[in-house]
Amino acid sequence: MFRLSNRSKRRRSGVDPRLIEISDLAIQITVVDFGHPADGGLRSAERQNDMFHLGLSKCDGYKRLSKHQTGKALDVYAYVDGKASWDTEHLAMVAAAFLQAASMLGHKLEWGGLWTSFQDYPHFQLLD
Ligand SMILES: [Zn+2]
Repeated sequence: MFRLSNRSKRRRSGVDPRLIEISDLAIQITVVDFGHPADGGLRSAERQNDMFHLGLSKCDGYKRLSKHQTGKALDVYAYVDGKASWDTEHLAMVAAAFLQAASMLGHKLEWGGLWTSFQDYPHFQLLD
């Protein structure tokens, strides 16, 4: 069983309490450890715009808003063999835990790895 680091917990601050509940339950049931990256939680429009210009997001923060700007999204990385991993296989295992946790809690959660236009494997967002 894994525990979320204090750093990962800090990176969730300001996000919707339902996402924190999901993250707290997911860390207890996941078979692959995970953490939350810098910029993985709540973002200002300025920060969102910076990330857009860095090619890290498709939302510019002004004309096209990210769910990260309203606290309705949370990103993860997998933690495998003592280091962060963004391998699709590892992230899919983490996603299984997130989707199961959301279902157990009765929250509607969407995983970016299941999007059809492009896949955003580290990304989760609430549907309402
Ligand atoms: Zn995201």
